[in-house]
Amino acid sequence: MATLEVLTLPDPRLKLVSTPITDITAEIDRFVQDFTETMQSFRGCVGLAAPQVDFPFRIVAVDVSVGRKPHPNHGLMVMLNPVVTACEGSESMREGCLSVPDFTGNVRRPTNISLTYLDPTGKECHLDTEGFEARAILHEIDHLDGLLFLDRVSSLKDDVFRRKNYL
Ligand SMILES: [Zn+2]
Repeated sequence: MATLEVLTLPDPRLKLVSTPITDITAEIDRFVQDFTETMQSFRGCVGLAAPQVDFPFRIVAVDVSVGRKPHPNHGLMVMLNPVVTACEGSESMREGCLSVPDFTGNVRRPTNISLTYLDPTGKECHLDTEGFEARAILHEIDHLDGLLFLDRVSSLKDDVFRRKNYL
């Protein structure tokens, strides 16, 4: 097991579109372990996407049970090839990101989502979720398409805030 380095803005690798997983190889298996451990090494970190650690494949991890405020959740989920199949509602909330350590921003996203994905054993899964967990998943899926929350704010002037420390 190893902790991986997290890329930060303006690293151009954060803007790449990641590749779907076609085979769960030993390399993917090993990566998922290091990736999960890396996310858990940042206290209070609720999500991470593989391209953030320079592994440009469609893998995200989310665990909103470790956040500072309690939210309904499904615990730790590692998702391969996640695809949003339905969404509903709309709400603006403050977001942060390990790859954007100096800023937070208000981002409007759907409140309820359905998605399909493969778990790390290759099993097809379906999930309906809402609120903070849905937001965390959508934020991570954005990374797979080269999008950061800064690309989602309505106004860089009014909706982005500087901060001194991450978490
Ligand atoms: Zn992020």
